[in-house]
Amino acid sequence: MPTVNSVSQTTHKTGAPIQADIITPDILKVHFIDVGQADASLVLCDGESMLIDGGNAEDSDLIYSYLKKQGVDHLNYIVNTHPHEDHVGGLAGALNYATVEYAFAPTTSYDSKAFNSFVKYLNKQNRGIIVPEVGDSFSLGSASVQVLGPVRTSDDPNNNSIVLKVIHDEISFLFAGDAEREEEQDILDKGFKLDSTVLKVGHHGSESSTTYPFLREIMPTFAVISVGNNNSYGHPTDNTLSRLRDADAKVMRTDMQGDIIFVSDGKSVTYTVERNANANTLVAGFNLTTPTESKTKETIKETTKVTTSTTNSPSGTKYILNTNTKKFHYPDCKSVKQMSEKNKLETTQSKSEIIAQGYSPCGNCNP
Ligand SMILES: [Zn+2]
Ligand SMILES: [Zn+2]
Repeated sequence: MPTVNSVSQTTHKTGAPIQADIITPDILKVHFIDVGQADASLVLCDGESMLIDGGNAEDSDLIYSYLKKQGVDHLNYIVNTHPHEDHVGGLAGALNYATVEYAFAPTTSYDSKAFNSFVKYLNKQNRGIIVPEVGDSFSLGSASVQVLGPVRTSDDPNNNSIVLKVIHDEISFLFAGDAEREEEQDILDKGFKLDSTVLKVGHHGSESSTTYPFLREIMPTFAVISVGNNNSYGHPTDNTLSRLRDADAKVMRTDMQGDIIFVSDGKSVTYTVERNANANTLVAGFNLTTPTESKTKETIKETTKVTTSTTNSPSGTKYILNTNTKKFHYPDCKSVKQMSEKNKLETTQSKSEIIAQGYSPCGNCNP
């Protein structure tokens, strides 16, 4: 497991807009917004933004204010993973506040008030729905976004969810929508590289999602469940939680912890939860009968696992460290030849040991 170091709280102290967040270069921020028994995630990178789902219709005001607070009045992308109300409902609120460039959904029509309202607000901005194709990818600042699903059209809207992987250098986030085992299997069959630092768990932690084969490919360090306190569906279920525990994922939940925010610098992630940082998130259901412990946001830094088991080279591999730039290389990398002798250090330590000392792999030789 990653090492955990507490760091002091630095942001969100005041109600002032924190516009600086979206223009800090090379930083990716992912907000899992607490919308109860529903989904809404805001992804910000290098001044660009993507909203994935917007909660229920009754969350419209919340989404409106959240975007306003973040100073996001233009969304490069809006993604409705599937037309169920708990995903599409609050997008009207987003479109009431922000302009949008591209809107993605798995279908262009769905007979419901919530979906029609989404379409109506898009049309007001002269935008229509684009149905993305599996394998498509697009950029969000310095991050890239891959479309992994739906691989084929399903009659079940959950299994027709748009599934996305956001890649920010060595850190990645997988947004599973409400995909269940059928769609998970389709995605596995496609052979995508699924390993991700953070998984937005499919279908609010329902029993029918987050199967072992899917989890084994993702191997998330963190698993975020967007779920309502004491919801009538019994989400997340005991079995889903125990599968996540078996996968050694740190489970985080919006019902217990409120808004959950991750910040990536491409090499490691830190996270902030609104409350209950140390809650036992592996208990199924959650009944909030006592006032929440503290409203103070808690920021915790975790260095990412950097998938030591799969990326380490066999022992005995030689690496060259540059003690000045803090990069490491294979001995035959051309930058090694240009390196000044006084900065050069040879080692046979493992990749993870080298990274633990603050080095990062050279982008050319990719050690
Ligand atoms: Zn849902
Ligand atoms: Zn659904």
